[in-house]
Amino acid sequence: MTKSAELFQQAKRTIPGGVNSPVRAFAGVGGDPIFVERADGAYIYDADGKAYIDFIGSWGPMILGHNHPAIRDAVVSAAQNGLSFGAPTAREITLAELVSEIVPSMEMVRMVNSGTEATMSAIRLARGFTGRDKFIKFEGNYHGHADCLLVKAGSGALTLGEPTSPGVPADFAKHTLTCTFNDLTSVREMFDAYPEDISCIIVEPVAGNMNCIPPQPGFLEGLRELCDQFGALLIFDEVMTGFRVALGGAQAHYGVKPDLTTLGKVIGGGMPVGAFGGRREVMEYIAPTGPVYQAGTLSGNPIAMAAGTTALSILRAEGNEQHLAEITKRLALGFKEAADRHGVPLAINQVGGMFGFFFTDKEQVTSFADVQQCSIDKFKRFFHLMLERGVYLAPSAFEASFTSLAHGDKEIEATLAAADQAFHILST
Ligand code: PLP
Repeated sequence: MTKSAELFQQAKRTIPGGVNSPVRAFAGVGGDPIFVERADGAYIYDADGKAYIDFIGSWGPMILGHNHPAIRDAVVSAAQNGLSFGAPTAREITLAELVSEIVPSMEMVRMVNSGTEATMSAIRLARGFTGRDKFIKFEGNYHGHADCLLVKAGSGALTLGEPTSPGVPADFAKHTLTCTFNDLTSVREMFDAYPEDISCIIVEPVAGNMNCIPPQPGFLEGLRELCDQFGALLIFDEVMTGFRVALGGAQAHYGVKPDLTTLGKVIGGGMPVGAFGGRREVMEYIAPTGPVYQAGTLSGNPIAMAAGTTALSILRAEGNEQHLAEITKRLALGFKEAADRHGVPLAINQVGGMFGFFFTDKEQVTSFADVQQCSIDKFKRFFHLMLERGVYLAPSAFEASFTSLAHGDKEIEATLAAADQAFHILST
């Protein structure tokens, strides 16, 4: 038995399912998860000492690669001054200003501790600001696990049980209206049905929790127009896409300005940080300046602020954004070429440092319905063939994969060589 398998058995005795977040359990692909001992650059190392080229990057945050020396130093240095104060610090201003500079629509920023907190708080703010209860989300989009958002959610909620989780009272979910991603008509119809009741639309501008689905031309622009027409706020959930599909996020990539933005993952450089922000007049509606309550004992934690500030400062250096997109494109196209060589039908999507691949005959995968028609079985086999060859992809057909600036030529070539073998085996 491997050390990972032993640890998994042990973990399951005290931790539900042996994991602290469901998708880590490999339920979407079968088999036992690997237990990670350490990580460096583009690699993670499991408890048995095996190295893997990592395309999960802690589910997004590790955009500079693991164990980046500058982030590590910033964390150590900040820790020497104390771990948490529960009082304001200069470090919070530094990160808030940096975020505002990189994402100009975020005129004001409130730090929280996770993406879930960011989206939950942004929706409360939108409801408070507009005085309306209902909001629109999209089928297959995931925005964390707040009650009102676990309605037709993507990610782990899609592979692991009912999209609407038991424990969420119907009354809590009844104001959540669900539309179809990349289908403006479904949104227009919802506004026609509830013209004065919809507080906001929350959307993953590039959907990353039903694999990777970019917005169709005009979709985000159409959401903006409908929100303006009906007096609703537009929230871009950029927890995944922020700093990744472009430095300024999907809003910079597609040139559409939301009223509010939620961030997570990259903003903490690997520490637990989330943030939401946007138009000044809306943000001033939260406590203590406004009536909408929102708070956090550890929010703006000095260690986390130091890690996030260092990560964003390095990331924004010239050339990084383009380089990340190039690496990712090369990888995605390489997967496609290898699949074609072996006659395995495959579609790929890629935006900036985010990509997805789909075992399907369709040339383009643009909707949740398309994703559901892909072969999960082929994905599972491919996943394990790659894992055996030292490549760690997201363990679910419904997750996007991520690259980092630590993925160099060597890692891309090794990954594509492994993919070539894996597609060959799949084709026989
Ligand atoms: N929003 C999006 C788009 C996400 O991908 C996620 C997590 O994967 C979340 C929100 C929730 O973030 P967290 O897991 O930090 O609570």
